[in-house]
Amino acid sequence: MTLSFNPDTVSLPVGHFIGDRLVPAEGVVGMHRPSDGKSYAGCPLADEAVIDRAVETAKQALKASNWGGVRPRERTVALQRWADLIEREAAILAKLEALSSTRPVGHLVAGDIAVSAEQIRFFAEFADKEGSDLVPTDDANLGMIMTEPYGVVGAITPWNFPVSMAAWKLGPALAAGNAVVLKPSEMTPFSTIFLAELAIRAGIPAGLINIVLGDGPVTGNAITGHPDIAKVSFTGSTGAGSAIMANIARTGVKPMTLELGGKSPQLVFADADLDRAAAAISQSILANAGQACVAGSRVIVEESVAAPLAEAIVARMKTAKAGPTWDEATAYSPIISERQLNRIDGIVAAALSRGGECLFGGRQMDAPGYFYQPTLIAVRDASSPAITEEIFGPVLTLQTFTDEDEALALADHPTYGLAAGLFTRDLSRALRLTRQIQAGTVWVNRYSRSRDHILPTGGYKRSGIGKDLGREAYQANRKSKSVLVSL
Ligand code: NAD
Repeated sequence: MTLSFNPDTVSLPVGHFIGDRLVPAEGVVGMHRPSDGKSYAGCPLADEAVIDRAVETAKQALKASNWGGVRPRERTVALQRWADLIEREAAILAKLEALSSTRPVGHLVAGDIAVSAEQIRFFAEFADKEGSDLVPTDDANLGMIMTEPYGVVGAITPWNFPVSMAAWKLGPALAAGNAVVLKPSEMTPFSTIFLAELAIRAGIPAGLINIVLGDGPVTGNAITGHPDIAKVSFTGSTGAGSAIMANIARTGVKPMTLELGGKSPQLVFADADLDRAAAAISQSILANAGQACVAGSRVIVEESVAAPLAEAIVARMKTAKAGPTWDEATAYSPIISERQLNRIDGIVAAALSRGGECLFGGRQMDAPGYFYQPTLIAVRDASSPAITEEIFGPVLTLQTFTDEDEALALADHPTYGLAAGLFTRDLSRALRLTRQIQAGTVWVNRYSRSRDHILPTGGYKRSGIGKDLGREAYQANRKSKSVLVSL
């Protein structure tokens, strides 16, 4: 069975998902398909009244279902049924996602959706295993650290991996006994609505997952500032993360997890397996056309091997197979919007006008939709915007070094510290530099996540606060209470 589909035949759930159903709403924010630029729908804009209704529904659902107080295995089993259904309905889910987003339908079914289902199961297993602690005290007392769900958690996700990002928020929050009000990106909201529908079909109590559609300034602000939302979990840009912190400071203190932007370096030493490094580096910038928070967008290579490495990367860039996201054969994604396409082009032009040398690409593709060529630019000026700004496109910069200190200095970014790659056959150097690199994730002789969901992800510096995935993500969805009983 082919996964390819005709984008004009997909019917869209335009509305908010509150309680157990879609609440239709007028689509007011214009939406364009990245693959062909065609206007195809409008995204509704939830105002404070809609957020109030979603939060109230979540509170009532928590009370009626006693979700945080049932035998924890019940939560595990319900979430596992949901994960099973997500896998079973992957083709429908993939259509809703591929239509709006930059994710090719084939990659969605084999990758994003399959992995998201697995991650939901991973979090489900924490429900009846991760608990409170008895702590050492003197004999006259009994000390405990009890953990409890927060209640209603607010979540906000970006457009670059919509199903995965929703799973990273919903999985741990629900496993830990909370209800969620989630706002997906206004550019890619429909697959997240379908996830909520599937949760109802899987038997997760109605009202525990509520999806509200809208933008940041209106809908996002109403979520983060809502007095009955006890915690906020956000993934998006560092700018929006700052705005959320400000809004939370203004409206009432609450805990938050912020997964923000990146500008991640990949250090390649002369002793590395260059073929392996070139494959990992190319994949890291070709995947989703560089629209990934952890895109390894800055290659920092030992001068003596810069030329062969660049050649090997360009050879791989040449094979990128662009196409519409609804074609199963597509491997290379479009850019999310015309605005973002122009922004990428502007940064590339600025880098070239400041002495950067374009080794490959450097232009929009001659195709319908918003496609940009995979691009490699040799840069000497460390203050070039191609080095300092998160481009969020298929643009790799290449800088050279002659010793470890210089490599580390170039790797260190003043703003971001999300991830880093390190390619060397020298084990001591790999471990020494891993300690010194200022990033929340370091990959050695590879540049990608594995399916070891126990490894958390999150940033140093302004790349974020707190972690997604791993035990940390589950724990971040429970608050702790210290109890001391006099015996
Ligand atoms: P964005 O910050 O523009 O938007 C992200 C989400 O936040 C959207 O749903 C948006 O509507 C909402 N939003 C915007 N302003 C808001 C506000 N003031 N209050 C509340 N909500 C607001 O980001 P984007 O363009 O959708 O996604 C790309 C960014 O996300 C990149 O910077 C990327 O690095 C980052 N990202 C980070 C991770 C990570 O794990 N660290 C993962 C994926 C994406």
